[in-house]
Amino acid sequence: MGKIINGRKVAKDVLNRVKEQTAFLKERGISPCLAVIIVGEDPASLVYVKNKQAACEKVGIISRRFSLPESTTEEELILLIKKLNADSSVHGILCQLPLPRHINEKSILRAIDEGKDVDGFSARIGFDRNDIAPCTPQGVIELLASENIDIKGKNCVVLGRSNIVGKPMALLLLLNDGTVTVCHSKTKNLIDITRRADILVVAIGKPRFITGDMVKNGVTVIDVGINRNADGSLCGDVDFDSVEPKAEYITKVPGGVGPMTIAMLMQNTIVAAMRSNAQN
Ligand code: NDP
Repeated sequence: MGKIINGRKVAKDVLNRVKEQTAFLKERGISPCLAVIIVGEDPASLVYVKNKQAACEKVGIISRRFSLPESTTEEELILLIKKLNADSSVHGILCQLPLPRHINEKSILRAIDEGKDVDGFSARIGFDRNDIAPCTPQGVIELLASENIDIKGKNCVVLGRSNIVGKPMALLLLLNDGTVTVCHSKTKNLIDITRRADILVVAIGKPRFITGDMVKNGVTVIDVGINRNADGSLCGDVDFDSVEPKAEYITKVPGGVGPMTIAMLMQNTIVAAMRSNAQN
């Protein structure tokens, strides 16, 4: 039976730690502040932004929301980002994705000052050991650390190569001395690769894709996928029932990686505030 890594508990621990760090900074006259930019009225984005602001409130981080109309031009958005880059009272800047089609996402993400890029998207694949890394993959590393699962020298297999999850996930595992294989939709003989994994991270958006026959005994499985079943409930990319008996550690959906993303965003904001304080 696999031990379930409880993302809700680990996320709570991270948020408690962030709360203490926020209080520490406030005692020294620094009020950590996250600027949240949303362009347009995409319903899912509105919910994500609301959840991020609620998390800020919970841990004592000030959140400043900038709600811009759908018609905002790329130049106007870059101008706002430049203003926030120059504002020393703002420590983190988050631009909620997706952006309207007429705005080039890359240009916007690159406009965010590297030290304030708490989503970790501007550097994309270029980040290094001490840089702020994208939140979801960083959450996966935190989940592994919570169970003292050593990454060093392990065969780590990542399914998915998106800029938001797969690629930065592979890089973070590599930075933690894992031996990393990245698989995607064109990968041949996938099962031969997944069966060799000591640590398998799945982020493809295909419900219950990974089944028990695709993993070896003693594997650690982290399921990043979030898919909706016909009845409205959520499931991951891993067929929990067939994989769990073979796994040493495994995450569930919901309650695994999901809660970690916002927790890591809060942590990144505090790291950005601490670093900006150290520089001033
Ligand atoms: P994308 O759709 O951007 O990327 C999916 C990746 O999976 C692609 O690289 C694709 O390959 C690969 N893929 C698709 N089918 C297969 C297959 N049969 N075998 C191997 N690889 C395959 O998705 P995201 O990375 O944005 O998200 C992945 C999942 O993670 C989604 O379910 C999403 O909802 C979830 N997610 C969860 C988060 C959380 O907080 N827990 C945060 C972000 C995402 P190719 O490049 O060749 O097309």
